[in-house]
Amino acid sequence: MPAFDLRTVILMSSVMPGLMALVMFSLGRGFPANIRGVGHWAWGALIISLSAVLLALRGGIADWLSMVAGNVGLIFGTGLWLIGSQLFFGVRASRRLVALLLVIAVVAMCWTTWVHPSAPARTLYMSILLTVTFGLNSLTMLRFGKGSGAAIFVGSMQLVQTAVTAVRGASMLVPGWAGEGLLGPDPMQQIYLITSSLMSLTMTVGILLVAMERLRHELEQQSFMDPLTGLLNRRAFLGAHQQERDRTMRTGGPLSLLLIDLDHFKQVNDTYGHAMGDRILVDFGKRVAAILPVPGHVARWGGEEFAVLLPRVDPDEARAHAERIRERIAQRDDATLPAYTCSIGVSCMAASEATIEQLARDADEALYDAKRGGRNCVRLSDQVILL
Ligand code: GH3
Ligand code: MG
Ligand code: MG
Repeated sequence: MPAFDLRTVILMSSVMPGLMALVMFSLGRGFPANIRGVGHWAWGALIISLSAVLLALRGGIADWLSMVAGNVGLIFGTGLWLIGSQLFFGVRASRRLVALLLVIAVVAMCWTTWVHPSAPARTLYMSILLTVTFGLNSLTMLRFGKGSGAAIFVGSMQLVQTAVTAVRGASMLVPGWAGEGLLGPDPMQQIYLITSSLMSLTMTVGILLVAMERLRHELEQQSFMDPLTGLLNRRAFLGAHQQERDRTMRTGGPLSLLLIDLDHFKQVNDTYGHAMGDRILVDFGKRVAAILPVPGHVARWGGEEFAVLLPRVDPDEARAHAERIRERIAQRDDATLPAYTCSIGVSCMAASEATIEQLARDADEALYDAKRGGRNCVRLSDQVILL
C-alpha cells in the first residue's frame, strides 16, 4: 500500500463540500418553496467541510477541536444531509434521531478523548454513528429517488461509503487490527480515508445534480400548469389540442370542445370575497378533472372560464359529458363552499376542420346561448351536424 499523506487527503476532501455548500446556498435561494431540503444539504456540506479541516489538523490544534468538535461536526453534517434528503422527498424528517446521535457523539468523543483515551474506541463509535447517518441517507435516496438517475447515483455512493464505514468499525473489534486512530498507518484507515475523499467529491456534485434535476422538472411543470387550479394553462392546452388533432386526423373521427363559464361569478366574489372565489375555482377544477373521460384535457381558459377537449368524441357524447359536468357542479359537495353553477357551450367537428380557433368560436357562441337561456345549462353549437 503506498504511503498516502493522510492529512493532505483529508484536507483535499474538505474543499469540495465547502465549495458545493456555497453553490447550494446561492442556488437554493432561487428555488421554488416546494423544493425543500437544499438548505439542509448546504449546511451539512459546510459543516462536513469544516469538520474535515479540524480532523486534518489533529496534533496541531487542541484535542477538543480536532477529536471532539471535528468528529461531532461530521455526525451533525451527515445528519443534516439525512434530514435534507427526507425533506427533499417529502418524508418525515428524523430530527430526533439526529439529535440523539449528536448527544451520543458528544458523550462518546469526550469519553474516548479524556476519560478513557482510546483511538480504536473513538473510531468504533464514530463508525457506528456514521454507518447510521450514511446508511439512512442512502436508503432514503434509493427508495424515494427511484425516478432520478442522480438520486440513484448519490444513494449508491452512500451505500459504498456505508459499507466501508461499517467494515472500518468492525475492524476495530478484531484483535491486532485496531489501528492508531484517524491518521494511523494501517491499511483500513487509508482505505477509509481515500473512499471518504472520493465520496465527498462525488456526493456533493451528486446532491447538486439531484437538486438541479428537481428544479428542471418543477419549472417544466410550472410552464404548462395554471398555478391556482393546477389544470393545464392555455398554452399547454393549445399544445394538447395540436397533438390530439394530428392523432385524430390519422385515425379519423371528430374533436369536441366544451367551453365552461361559471355563472354570476362576479356576484360570488362580491358576496363571499375574492379568496372564496379562488377556492371555488380550485374546487371546480378538481371536480371536473375527476369526472373527465381518460383522453380528456381540461384547462383554465382564463378567469372563470375553462376548456375541455374531448378527442374522438361525437356531439351526443360530448353533450352527455357536458351535462354530467353541469349536474355534478350544481350539486353542493363541500359544505364550506357556497353553491355555484356553470354554463357550457359544446362544439364538435371533423379533425381536419377542427382548428382551435374554429372550435372555440363555435363553443363560445353556444356558451353565449346557454347564458341567454338562463344559465346552469348546456348548449350545442348550431354548426354541429348531428351524426
Ligand atoms: P356570467 O354568469 O354572465 O358569466 O356572470 P359573471 O359574473 O360570471 O361574468 P363576468 O365575466 O362579468 O365576471 C367574471 C368574474 O370572474 C369577474 C372576475 O372578478 C372574476 N374572476 C376572474 N378571474 C378570477 C380569479 O382568478 N379569482 C377570482 N376570485 N375571481 C376571478
Ligand atoms: Mg366569464
Ligand atoms: Mg361567468
